[in-house]
Amino acid sequence: MSDHLFDPDLVESARKTFAGPIAFLKSAPALQHLPPMNVPEVAFAGRSNVGKSSLINALTNRNALARTSNTPGRTQELNFFDVGEPLKFRLVDMPGYGFAEAPKDLVKKWRFLVNDYLRGRTVLKRALVLIDSRHGIKPVDREIMDMLDATAVSYRVVLTKADKIKATALADVATRTAEEARKRPAAHPDIIETSSEKGMGLPDLRAAVVEAIG
Ligand code: GDP
Repeated sequence: MSDHLFDPDLVESARKTFAGPIAFLKSAPALQHLPPMNVPEVAFAGRSNVGKSSLINALTNRNALARTSNTPGRTQELNFFDVGEPLKFRLVDMPGYGFAEAPKDLVKKWRFLVNDYLRGRTVLKRALVLIDSRHGIKPVDREIMDMLDATAVSYRVVLTKADKIKATALADVATRTAEEARKRPAAHPDIIETSSEKGMGLPDLRAAVVEAIG
């Protein structure tokens, strides 16, 4: 399904962009710490352990740009990465959600931070909602999708860890996921299947980012 989604010229220019300079800019634990809205942004959202850090690192060909954070306390931040010199756009690593043991006030804090960011961020061109191929879309994922639909932030669903399941199971979850995406007002109808481990879908995902920033 990820095959031939994008024009080869776009894929190639996206490859070059992601092979160029990319640097961590800052962490924003609250809205007053956000960087200025001087360039377009593309944000990555997903439940904890979905493979978000691995995907950002694989996309940018860096080993440790996005750090894995397995403690709920460390996830309540938006992390910004500058792409290009001169600066072209920013990647935003949104705080993970869906910790089994997350205290209620932390979930509340996540909701406020994410909602505030989504509401006011005119430079946010697209969000990528990461879904584990093994699990498909779960209720916690629907919460962020609802927020994106409500704030009219366009988003695309991206399956992660595609190497972890068989091709037939992957085709099945891809079909079900795309069907659900198509029913949502702000979701892109096509999904992208990826594996950070195997490098699958990464050229398309880079193209999707570059296409979104326009
Ligand atoms: P995050 O919490 O969403 O940032 O998830 P991580 O990137 O830290 O990944 C969570 C776990 O899944 C780690 O043990 C990764 O090694 C593993 N993982 C991430 N992406 C892949 C993938 O594409 N394939 C496989 N097999 N494992 C992956």
